[in-house]
Amino acid sequence: MPRIYDSASDPIDFCKKCFPTEAVAEKVYGDVTKTGEGPDGRGNCFGYEAEHPPYEECDYDCTTCRKPLKERDN
Ligand SMILES: [Zn+2]
Repeated sequence: MPRIYDSASDPIDFCKKCFPTEAVAEKVYGDVTKTGEGPDGRGNCFGYEAEHPPYEECDYDCTTCRKPLKERDN
């Protein structure tokens, strides 16, 4: 499940190869001083390995390498 939510609750998807470790992800995407807080006063919305729609049914690209995400990346 290579999806991360950044601290502002924006979803960020990766292919399996580019998915960062939780420590790296939290440093880059989970810092409210960099990516801001979530809407409606929800504070830090960082999430790791979050639920996402099946990639083969959607048109997502990997955030890092821009490859289209497929079933194998789910
Ligand atoms: Zn990738």
